[in-house]
Amino acid sequence: MNILILGGGGREHALAWAIRQNPKCDRLIVAPGNAGIADIARCADIDIKSRAEVLEFAQENAIDFVVVGPEAPLAAGVSDALREAGFLVFGPSRAAAQLEASKAFTKQICDACGAPTAAWQRFTDAAGARDYVSGKGTPIVVKADGLAAGKGVTVAETVEQAHEAIDAIFDGEFGDTSVVIEEFMEGEEASFFVLSDGTDCLAIGTAQDHKRVGEGDTGPNTGGMGAYSPAPVLTEPLQEQVMAQIVRPTIAEMARRGTPFQGVLYAGLMIRDGQARLVEYNVRFGDPECQVLMMRLGAQALDLLLACAEGRLEQLSVNWADDHALTVVMAARGYPGSYEKGSTINGLNGITESGFEMVFHAGTAERDGQIIATGGRVLACTGRGETLAEAHRRAYALVDAIDWPEGFCRRDIGWRAL
Ligand code: ATP
Repeated sequence: MNILILGGGGREHALAWAIRQNPKCDRLIVAPGNAGIADIARCADIDIKSRAEVLEFAQENAIDFVVVGPEAPLAAGVSDALREAGFLVFGPSRAAAQLEASKAFTKQICDACGAPTAAWQRFTDAAGARDYVSGKGTPIVVKADGLAAGKGVTVAETVEQAHEAIDAIFDGEFGDTSVVIEEFMEGEEASFFVLSDGTDCLAIGTAQDHKRVGEGDTGPNTGGMGAYSPAPVLTEPLQEQVMAQIVRPTIAEMARRGTPFQGVLYAGLMIRDGQARLVEYNVRFGDPECQVLMMRLGAQALDLLLACAEGRLEQLSVNWADDHALTVVMAARGYPGSYEKGSTINGLNGITESGFEMVFHAGTAERDGQIIATGGRVLACTGRGETLAEAHRRAYALVDAIDWPEGFCRRDIGWRAL
């Protein structure tokens, strides 16, 4: 079959790498793709947030199956337009993507289905929000209601900080005029990935990531500096609990509302004393969590995504190897602040890639036969092994084989689990 993947980051390189290995995949196109993806698929430069452009491209190229990577095309309704035109699509409708696009929406769903999460309150005026925070005290969490690329959340230690965060939101910093104030939850964070075809659910793995730029989980937040799978804190019984109390009730509530969720539901969880509560939902794979999940799933990923799109999840199970994967993100110096683009990355040609060692590209392009950095997060060096220590060793061996003085990475990815 002819498959189109939308996106051009490390997540999409990992998806393309896994899908390419499945004999069902005849032709693979990734839009816009990147220099790493170009080695295994055709890259096409189209505007993936444009419903019309994606639709026309899919029709012209006789595409049979579209996999949507990032949230932006989902929020723009690209999956709806494709489905209406008869294409098989992996990725939720715009209505179901509200589970990520609106924090208040997710909280209402949790309340309606009884899923455990932090107590919350939504405000559309700054004065009401400020008074509420003053009454509750700190620590407390202030969130812009809509999508803010991870920048709309403040965990406030003082009432003043909370008030500042509220004022910033109502000053229009995130284009949002409503705020969600949440109880602060203590515990360890982990991510749980579940496919749903709208009715049935299938868990496809757990992961933990490192959001802070600095070693020891310090410094500013990033898109993610590394991840590993599985997450030891999400034990089998805990996964059962999350399925029974959070995921299945959410899927049932979405179906009851006439907006069934089809795609990957990525639940961000806070775990404490053997109990999990929901922090947030994302409606796509995480980046870099996707890299470790795909490394572990391999070619069967395509069968799983197809079953999800075709409503056949009930008949499927995951063929697990007893393995671990770990990925280390290499970023341009200065990231997540300002950084230079265009530096040359050497050493990639000398690396032998396999099902145990893969360098997934995020922000790269090819210029005059050389690979250059074009983004903040640039490469994801990923290892797989029988133990996490082995996966860790393989990932850092890849890092050490790369010659890129303008780049950096954290040397302590996976410290909590190792
Ligand atoms: P991202 O894109 O980084 O996932 P987001 O904008 O979708 O961010 P959330 O995931 O809701 O926002 O929050 C970001 C981070 O803030 C969480 O990963 C968690 O560390 C912290 N956080 C959010 N809500 C709470 C809470 N109620 N209690 C404690 N910490 C929280």
